Amino acid sequence: MKKVDLKRFRTILETKMDAILHSSGKETYWENMESTRRGDFVDQASDDNEVHVNIRLRQTDAKLLRAIEAAISRIENGSFGICTMCEGEISLARLNAVPWTSVCINCKEKKTA
Ligand SMILES: [Zn+2]
Repeated sequence: MKKVDLKRFRTILETKMDAILHSSGKETYWENMESTRRGDFVDQASDDNEVHVNIRLRQTDAKLLRAIEAAISRIENGSFGICTMCEGEISLARLNAVPWTSVCINCKEKKTA
């Protein structure tokens, strides 16, 4: 892959990582809001749901963060854009859509099939 493409993907990955870390801060803010409302019986049920959604979001974010970190380290060691399963090239179109992916579309389909 060209250096200019690697640089572009690195910027995309780092921007995405910042966005996730930023949104985690916002969740903490909402949790604080909820704790100040504790004791409000009418809202209790919906509060529980919100907390549940927040936890699920954080797990997804953590998984995504790990994938992004791995992608950035692949940029550093020169294996970015190479499928970790078949060692073929991952298409630029796929990387544009999912820059933190580690497998090509063929292997992805095999994995989910
Ligand atoms: Zn592959």
